[in-house]
Amino acid sequence: MMKSRWYVIAAGIGLGALLFSSCSRWFKPAAPKLAVVIVVDQMRYDYLVRFAGLFSGGFGKLLREGAVFTNAHHDHANTETAPGHATLLTGSHPSHHGIIGNNFYEPQIGRQVYCVDDSNFAVVKSDDKEAMNSPSPGGKSPHKLRRSTLGDWLKAKNPAAKVISIAGKDRSAILMAGFEAEAAYWFDASSGGFISSRYYLDALPEWAAQWNAARHAGRYYGKAWEKSHQEKDYFVSREDFFSAEGDGEHTTFPHEFATDEAASTNAIDRRFYEWLANTPFADALTLEFAQQAVQAEQLGADGTPDLLLIGLSATDLIGHDFGPLSQESENNLLRLDAELAKFFAFLEATVGLKNCVIALSADHGVLPLPEELRRRGFESARILYDEAFEEVKGVMREMQQEWRTNRRFLRAFGADIVLDFRVADSLGLSPAAFRSRVAAKLRTLSFVSDVFTRDELQATDGATCEFLEKQRHSFYPDRSTDLVLQLKPYYLVSEKSQGTTHGSPYEYDTHVPMIFWGERIKPGRIDSSHKTVDLAPTLAYLLHLDLSSLKSQKEGRGAVEYGVDGEVLKMVIKE
Ligand SMILES: [Zn+2]
Repeated sequence: MMKSRWYVIAAGIGLGALLFSSCSRWFKPAAPKLAVVIVVDQMRYDYLVRFAGLFSGGFGKLLREGAVFTNAHHDHANTETAPGHATLLTGSHPSHHGIIGNNFYEPQIGRQVYCVDDSNFAVVKSDDKEAMNSPSPGGKSPHKLRRSTLGDWLKAKNPAAKVISIAGKDRSAILMAGFEAEAAYWFDASSGGFISSRYYLDALPEWAAQWNAARHAGRYYGKAWEKSHQEKDYFVSREDFFSAEGDGEHTTFPHEFATDEAASTNAIDRRFYEWLANTPFADALTLEFAQQAVQAEQLGADGTPDLLLIGLSATDLIGHDFGPLSQESENNLLRLDAELAKFFAFLEATVGLKNCVIALSADHGVLPLPEELRRRGFESARILYDEAFEEVKGVMREMQQEWRTNRRFLRAFGADIVLDFRVADSLGLSPAAFRSRVAAKLRTLSFVSDVFTRDELQATDGATCEFLEKQRHSFYPDRSTDLVLQLKPYYLVSEKSQGTTHGSPYEYDTHVPMIFWGERIKPGRIDSSHKTVDLAPTLAYLLHLDLSSLKSQKEGRGAVEYGVDGEVLKMVIKE
């Protein structure tokens, strides 16, 4: 009875519950001065196993001294970058935080929108002289996010706390940051610097503008991406030349920026910065910029806990091009291991590592190249977009003949299908019956394992299979379409004949690292199964944020809720 009564009071007083809970801090170990969350984009869990013997830097330290979850998974089906980052920092599934894809359908406008686009908040660059006119087509904000983040919870309790997010990609930086952060910064391929949004700032702070003015990215001009380490260390990866990598030709080290093909007279231009973003050098720059942020913003310098969010995006771009079993992916991870060691040494010298808690995870994994899987005996296929599209059109033609209509009643946005119900009306079918009939036909597609209707995804009956539950966690009523296609395992629908991707509910896309490191963290391996929604609640607990009041709150900014789906992973915390 007491419990339910407190629940009601906590819900009633809302934010006050967060503030009230600070009274209990004197009975607990001190909160860390700085929490650092590192999200390595597209980092498969098995990298930690495959390269364990070679990790002597930052990954090595976390593996030796941290609490390492060996069986942590994203529990949603659409394993893309935006849902992954939002899930890690909101502690909620996409079905609650609303970011169900990098892009998602908006029925009101009848097309897809990008998850952080917001024309009301222009991008802020160093060279801005005057405020840009609103609306700004390139503007960005977190307004499509429907749940608050760890940073928002921290700021609600400690308004003096600083929250800074830095990533290679805008969606990673913004969706980790949430609503109340000082700023989210991301790499801008047109200038080679880090930029932000007017949502957070009117102008870049001086330290960031100065860092950009120093043109650090230009240091890498004329420098090739060479293979480091000895040849024998690459026995855990495949041969360097593999025709399904890269563009099919440039698949071997060293990788150089093709200056001779430069179309511009200004050699260090967008083309160079885009090349740079696809090398390990990009993450080295992100971590350098993060060091500037720690120093200039004095993160972790006082008794109020601060939060630093870092999104390392190069692993994703390299993985897309070369696949997870390439020497390029291995070399990138080995270089990142060394960069993380430098970053941790910097934290030790400034904040002191004993004052930090560090969490590391990934937004999703990735499928190995189908050509690699096939030679290993897997049933795997690369289906080109045009082939997939032709097959879908063929199935639609069959339905058109059967239903005696010429109307094109089906539009595909990737795996999301929008139906035109005028055909259903003429057949006298209810929308649900029409969806069910079309889904049954689409299940005959050669590359599809299942098709889910929004009726199935909206139902609240017990999930009958693993994938239905994951698909439900990727369903958001206002943004989900009529049908969702699920590819067969190890199948890839691809725009080109090389490279790979992610976005499925299968283990190769859901299984990610989840590591906690700090004074209050018990080192060791945890082999039981856990979900990535637990990362933010666990950090909230370490930062003395009261999760029970968060869970019960329904009030936030606009349509945003305070709430979490995950739990505190108490087994890793020293009490
Ligand atoms: Zn990603």
